[in-house]
Amino acid sequence: MKPSLIVHGGAWDIPDEQAAACQAGCRRALEAGWAMLSRGGAALDAVEAAIVVLEDDPVFDAGTGSHLNLDGQVECDAIVMEGASLRAGAVAGLKRIRNPIRLARKLMENGPHMMLAGEGAERYAVAQGFSLCAPEELVTAAERAAWKLCREGKHAAAHHRGHDQGTVGAVALDGMGRLVAATSTGGTCCKLPGRIGDSPLIGCGCYADSGAGGVSCTGYGEGIMKIVMAKSAVDLLRRPVNAEESPADLAMLAAREAVRLLVERAESTGGLILLDCEGNPGYAFNTPRMAWGVVQPDGSFRTGL
Ligand code: ASP
Repeated sequence: MKPSLIVHGGAWDIPDEQAAACQAGCRRALEAGWAMLSRGGAALDAVEAAIVVLEDDPVFDAGTGSHLNLDGQVECDAIVMEGASLRAGAVAGLKRIRNPIRLARKLMENGPHMMLAGEGAERYAVAQGFSLCAPEELVTAAERAAWKLCREGKHAAAHHRGHDQGTVGAVALDGMGRLVAATSTGGTCCKLPGRIGDSPLIGCGCYADSGAGGVSCTGYGEGIMKIVMAKSAVDLLRRPVNAEESPADLAMLAAREAVRLLVERAESTGGLILLDCEGNPGYAFNTPRMAWGVVQPDGSFRTGL
């Protein structure tokens, strides 16, 4: 089977001065994931590698550079899901894990549960050999300044360079037909401490089923949860292809239909990326921009906003 890879860096009002950095970040994530997939590597390794690049890039709202909650702290959420087994690992409310996606993977592979939050998740991390970072190591000067502006006046997206959201995600299909999806986020800025959005929730911020496809979402979590957007999008991929369309058309249509549902049923904003089980990519968003990147059939990288 031909491998395939798609990534996103969040659906938000990306200002012009951030556009190049967002596309460059997506490209680096594709490079990291594709270096594995193109040599016969596993979708799970590719997705993890791509997300780590995005988590480490302070332009995105995940890992380092995450938005701060009302108390001025980072709280990260992440999930990874495997389409063949329907196994998932999800972690939430992390303050001291540099790469939450690595812990999500560890939980999926070794853990007795599918989701761990807060202190318990960090204790599990230590027991699994992770080292904890100081919470401040994940806080960038730009996010601290934005948080201060919000605290002095009123929370406003403008304080965050228009960057009110900005989760990251990746979906990969490998040569063995293994399909994996993942999402990682710092959540929404100035959220209440303890708030968990759609991102780490199975079916909401992420879903993968080898019989249909894999999805990673981004946007306003409280809206995405209402329509269980990732699972809804995967189910839209199950429709038989009709005479006027190709499987590639259906992948794009399913993505657009999921965003239409988000508007109609939740009056909300966001976006998603997906791969169907053959590796056809789809993406859609109703925010001004969403950073995305995809490996094209000839192996070249395409990014966009
Ligand atoms: N969906 C994320 C959340 O609500 C935010 C985002 O995608 O930017 O936590």
